[in-house]
Amino acid sequence: MPNRDPEYRRLLALALQDDVERQKGIRVSRVITGDPSQRLAALTFDDGPHGEKTGDLLTVLRRLRVPATFFVVGKMSLRYPNLIERIVLDGHELGNHTYNHYRLPQIPLSEVAGELNRTRDVLTGIVGAPTRLFRPPGGEYNDRIQKIIAQEGYTNMLWTDDPADYKLGRTASRITELVMRDLTPGAIILLHSGLPETTKAVPEFVARIRAQGYTFVTCSELIQRGNGLLHLQNLPAHISRTAAS
Ligand SMILES: [Zn+2]
Repeated sequence: MPNRDPEYRRLLALALQDDVERQKGIRVSRVITGDPSQRLAALTFDDGPHGEKTGDLLTVLRRLRVPATFFVVGKMSLRYPNLIERIVLDGHELGNHTYNHYRLPQIPLSEVAGELNRTRDVLTGIVGAPTRLFRPPGGEYNDRIQKIIAQEGYTNMLWTDDPADYKLGRTASRITELVMRDLTPGAIILLHSGLPETTKAVPEFVARIRAQGYTFVTCSELIQRGNGLLHLQNLPAHISRTAAS
């Protein structure tokens, strides 16, 4: 059950205020990278919350003072409302990652908006305000789905850097190696919540990214401080590849 203590609710609303205000100013419907001329990086964690394992990740992020963006699944959020609240209270940002985590091109087009709206309602019910960030499961969408994402008021947040941390046998050191390999200014790094090897890798790659002069930001900060929507043809090859897949 969500904590109904008035002081707790006040702190939660306060923590959410900056994100909500910043998101109001976002005018792009799709983001494939931050501004490549700025050493900013956004860590994103998809698919949770996953109970204790997401709790462990939040503890690591808090210790390192790294803000991140959590693209959460609606049905998982219902199971772990306290983790949704903790994400916000710890200064992270929430994103919508559908209700059921279906690959959107594989369900009827008429059900796509419902997948977004159900999660919007779940998150609003827990923390009191909706998010305007969205990421499609598997990064899979088409023009018609993109239109629905925009119509529902969301920014489709893709990524530039994908170490495929969910792959069987991925070790923390390999995740770090792959994150660093594809790191570019304006990075949006795709990771998953609830994977112990990813959580183990976080302190190492955070230190290495910071050593290169980067600052970590949430997705809406990245958009606000950068140009938002950029054209695929102007991007390095590996970015075009991920964004197009
Ligand atoms: Zn996912």
